[in-house]
Amino acid sequence: MTSDSPAPIYKAALTKYAMPFDMAAGARAPQIPDDPGIVHAVRPVHSELGIREPYYIEDTGNYRAALCGALVKVIMPNTFKTEEPEACTYCIAETLNPATDHRPILRPGGLFGMYGGDAWSPRRWFRKRVERNK
Ligand SMILES: [Zn+2]
Repeated sequence: MTSDSPAPIYKAALTKYAMPFDMAAGARAPQIPDDPGIVHAVRPVHSELGIREPYYIEDTGNYRAALCGALVKVIMPNTFKTEEPEACTYCIAETLNPATDHRPILRPGGLFGMYGGDAWSPRRWFRKRVERNK
């Protein structure tokens, strides 16, 4: 084997979800929208590797960043596939040239984390856009 490392697995991710009223539950519940739009790639954290249902991020403080920097609100159980027509072209480019900012961080509240670089931030998103338009 001459490859440097196994190919990283990225989860498909959406930037939005719908909140229809669920008659059975008697409350509004997040759902995949009719027009999910562009599908982005995210590096899953350990607990998301084996999910079987979409993971809706309803807490604004927990929004995630796609590889391209887009704000992610739904993490899908399936992996990101570059050949899908809805796949984000910027995320595809990033999967071929992954950023390496996996560093240990101390999250607010004292929790230890490894994926701090993937937390969504307006500044990071802006920086990605600037890099892209060069
Ligand atoms: Zn993207």
